[in-house]
Amino acid sequence: MELKLYNTLTKQKEEFKPLQGNEVRIYTCGPTVYSFAHIGNFRAYVFMDTLRRVLKYNSYDLKHVMNITDVGHLESDADEGEDKMEKAAKKENKNPYEIAAYYTDIFFRDMGRLNIDKPEIIAKATEHIAEMLEFVKKLIENDYAYETSKGIYFDISKLDKYPILSNRKLDDQIAGARVDVDTEKRNPYDFALWIKAPEAHIMKWESPWGLSYPGWHIECSAMGRKYLGDEFDIHTGGVDHIPTHHENEIAQSKGCTNKVPAKRWMHVEFLQVDGGKMSKSLGNTYTLDQLQEKGIEPLAYKLFCYTAHYRTKLNFTFEVALSTQKALNRLREGYLKHIEGTEKVEESIIESYKSRFLEAVNDDLNMPLAMGIVWEVVRNEMKSKQFAELLLEFDKILGLEIENSKKYVQEKETIKIPEEIKLLLEERKIARENKDWSKSDELRDLINQKGYIVKDTKEGQTIEIS
Ligand code: AMP
Ligand code: ZN
Repeated sequence: MELKLYNTLTKQKEEFKPLQGNEVRIYTCGPTVYSFAHIGNFRAYVFMDTLRRVLKYNSYDLKHVMNITDVGHLESDADEGEDKMEKAAKKENKNPYEIAAYYTDIFFRDMGRLNIDKPEIIAKATEHIAEMLEFVKKLIENDYAYETSKGIYFDISKLDKYPILSNRKLDDQIAGARVDVDTEKRNPYDFALWIKAPEAHIMKWESPWGLSYPGWHIECSAMGRKYLGDEFDIHTGGVDHIPTHHENEIAQSKGCTNKVPAKRWMHVEFLQVDGGKMSKSLGNTYTLDQLQEKGIEPLAYKLFCYTAHYRTKLNFTFEVALSTQKALNRLREGYLKHIEGTEKVEESIIESYKSRFLEAVNDDLNMPLAMGIVWEVVRNEMKSKQFAELLLEFDKILGLEIENSKKYVQEKETIKIPEEIKLLLEERKIARENKDWSKSDELRDLINQKGYIVKDTKEGQTIEIS
């Protein structure tokens, strides 16, 4: 069945075929490891996981690179502010390498909790300084880059077209509108390839331009080229990468190889909170741990991501996430009922579910549509082992660990109660001892709103996830 994927470059869905044989070569912009990745970041990696799984389901082999940005990502994508790694290091009183190692470990732990299929190659920026230097030298040689007192800059006026990925209007971004104009730059939109390190900068390397460090965009161009060649199949990232980071990656590759590095560019829309932007500065980002404290498993968050197509915004609220947790519990219970089932389903029915599911995921990863089909199977009145097997087949793409349903259901029965709920239970116990029934009911409702059901038994209060 034909696989169609949207391409930001052409702004349309296109039939997918790899450039070479059966192997799909993919590059994904990975995390900047200066802090905990939040659930918004993980929407991007859940999307990456779905893409990988759908490609594998279509029998392709994958060669997929994801970078780890552990140097050079300044606070603003427009080459302003401090290096995020160095800033975090100062704040936490550690060196930037310790910061990077710590948050990289946590990132992969969380990827594991989301059952995200890991790319074949994980490439750290600090381990590819030589490749990046070579790339910059080549750009100078090809007359696409020049030196200033601050570093080496890319001269965008040398390109036939810039930008090509976004509808960004350069006039809107005249340097000086927000920041001081750098009079040494030839064009206001020229961007840093290599940055001369101030004395206090810890991460710096010898280069023809003295002790210095790479700009953010060069790492992806250099590592993509090293592992995947001058032209590969798919490049992914979040929509925030379109106007600057990916535009500049394309510029760099054109300057070096005269080629747009990827044939297809895929971007995941943002996860929002309460209808607005999710950002560390607004203090409204959440980690998987924070969700778990409220009784929402990482896999329930993954299921939550499937409620919207990756190219549409998705709004996070705890209320909806808690109902997704309940949905995940129902999915597991539904699977277990099918395992116990004895009915025989006609093969044509199974085949029809399979082909509808494949059609949905092959239509630019339409997970909301695919989930509709999953629910039809879960809720089917006929209880059959064939349906249980079908759900396991679907799980090759969902990655929700459906085969472990029994374990999860048993764990739910011995749930770990969050501190917040324990305090409410204690308060309710006191209210009941004081025969303050209205307070007791009020607290029961509050506990219920937070996703737990409290029951009064001879042994006292018992609790379960609602
Ligand atoms: P960073 O670690 O900031 O470089 O971001 C890692 C990935 O998360 C990038 O692909 C971003 O585009 C993506 N990202 C950041 N915030 C969000 C969000 N709120 N929703 C979806 N993706 C995001
Ligand atoms: Zn990148």
